[in-house]
Amino acid sequence: MNNNQKNIKSGAIGVLDLQGGVFEHLIHLERLGVAGRRVKYPPDLANLAGLIIPGGESTCISRLLNIFEIKEPLLAAYRAGMKIWGTCAGAILVAGEVTGEQACLSIIDIAIERNSFGSQLDSFQKEALIPEIAAEPLPLTFIRAPKILRAGPDVNILLKVDDYIAAAESDKVLATVFHPELTGCIALHRYFAKKCGLTTETDKKTAIDPLWKNESWTKLARIAK
Ligand code: GLN
Repeated sequence: MNNNQKNIKSGAIGVLDLQGGVFEHLIHLERLGVAGRRVKYPPDLANLAGLIIPGGESTCISRLLNIFEIKEPLLAAYRAGMKIWGTCAGAILVAGEVTGEQACLSIIDIAIERNSFGSQLDSFQKEALIPEIAAEPLPLTFIRAPKILRAGPDVNILLKVDDYIAAAESDKVLATVFHPELTGCIALHRYFAKKCGLTTETDKKTAIDPLWKNESWTKLARIAK
């Protein structure tokens, strides 16, 4: 076995790299001490413990899944045991029902409505306690976010706010309508890594990077300081 093959066997989490916030998820995985890698072509899916489908534009990612001929291999890897976490646009792609549109991957029994808070200008940040994930309230960033309107009987609701569900999971799929990768918080990445059966280096450390300014929505803003 050469070094490349050894790396592929190491229980990594992939980030679907077709469009959207890929880099920020990879940075969070790195902070957790979990091996992450970009997934663009079908062979990149080999032996992944989990896959993150990032935020971005769900119609665009959905078309690129077909253009890159990776949709069926992704579903095959999922059926073989790979866990999947969809954030924002990713949550739309994993949903079984999308209001007024055709569902894409349809791997979790939730109904979701795109752009449900309004336009990009209606994006916002808030804090919420998600007891299954962390003991302290977590910063949440909603960017032209969808709302999960319904969850089926086999779906566990992790966070409900007002009239919508913001985070839900089945045995194999996690869906969040917000963007943990755009805050200093690694608690959700740690939770997903555990769901994938991976141990992380930061089990005892705080989930929130105190240097990461909550008002900055990108890592680049932090580097520029
Ligand atoms: N509004 C986007 C969509 O419908 C999702 C936005 C996001 O991922 N931040 O795909």
